[in-house]
Amino acid sequence: MISVCVNGYGTIGKRVADALGRHPDVKLVGVSKFTPDADARIAAAKGIRMFVPNENHDAFVKMGIVPAGTVEEMIDSSDIVVDAAPDKKGVKNKEEIYMPKNKKAIFQGGEKENVAEVSFNARSNFNSAKNKNYVRVVSCNTTGLCRIIKPMLDNRDDLEKISVSLIRRGADPNDSKGSALNSVEWEANSHHAHDVQTVLGPIPIKTTAFKSPQTLMHVHSISMKFRGPAPSKEDVEAIYSRESRVALLMTATSTADVIEKARDLGLARNDIFLVNLHANTVISDGGELSMSITVPQESIVVPENVDAVISMAGLMDQETSMGMTNKILGLGNIKARMESAFS
Ligand code: NAD
Repeated sequence: MISVCVNGYGTIGKRVADALGRHPDVKLVGVSKFTPDADARIAAAKGIRMFVPNENHDAFVKMGIVPAGTVEEMIDSSDIVVDAAPDKKGVKNKEEIYMPKNKKAIFQGGEKENVAEVSFNARSNFNSAKNKNYVRVVSCNTTGLCRIIKPMLDNRDDLEKISVSLIRRGADPNDSKGSALNSVEWEANSHHAHDVQTVLGPIPIKTTAFKSPQTLMHVHSISMKFRGPAPSKEDVEAIYSRESRVALLMTATSTADVIEKARDLGLARNDIFLVNLHANTVISDGGELSMSITVPQESIVVPENVDAVISMAGLMDQETSMGMTNKILGLGNIKARMESAFS
């Protein structure tokens, strides 16, 4: 049993805390909560232990929540901290709290790679986090790309180059600030290519990122060039149908279509956790393969955070850990039901 806390209870933190709370080998010490708000009320009603800054203790008590202690006490009682603070605040937490306390920590993709000893994706490099002190779970976009590229690298040794156009969501659904309302912004040679390399090594990849004014999902158009004939559509379906964290959707035609099925299937928070590979976008032509994926940004990194904890603690091997994480999140069931809906 390993004691873990979540520092930062926002979009990612609340989902990771729920998942860790269901893991049989993890004791969820609690979460940090800085603001006494509606999210705190919901967490309290779910029985999640909340640790707050000393100066906010009375404000929480006034709203009927008795904090379990201070943020500092939460970190002291944990073996590993999952840091889910806003971009670039994780590194500050590392320097000011985790390092002085000699505490192991997992960071998120909004931090630079050098915040950690290793950048992590469970399917690609599970063992690299073993016994490490600092691990970074890569961003939602990079996680989606790693789940697609790694199985292809396992199947083919003649991949010559990969080009990806990422159409990013402008904001999360709960974000009232967001991106430009009437414009698509772009970034050539975006950082995503290098980010994938932090996990998979020096593979030949280039990315361009577009930010679009919608909140549902990221969409990636991926092109792979092979030295030999590209895999056929049937080959692609065979490779990815074996992947437990890829949903192979045959008939979806929009992100709205995908999220509506997540709603209709009653998935909590509409969380799909899987990367969706859209089989109806697969084109194999000579040495080139193109296909599109959709990335549910709020949930895709949740299983990776759980596996990072297990790998760091050396509790299970890759297959056992990913299997257990899939089980507690119901990923087999979600994959089967999404694939059936879009068969
Ligand atoms: P968020 O803004 O939704 O939540 C961050 C939470 O951290 C808030 O509750 C905030 O009050 C709290 N916080 C503020 N200062 C803090 C501090 N110093 N220490 C601890 N907590 C603090 O952010 P998010 O979307 O959950 O993103 C968290 C991290 O996950 C970022 O690195 C982000 O890049 C990454 N990430 C986000 C997404 C996404 O789509 N939202 C996907 C993958 C990765």
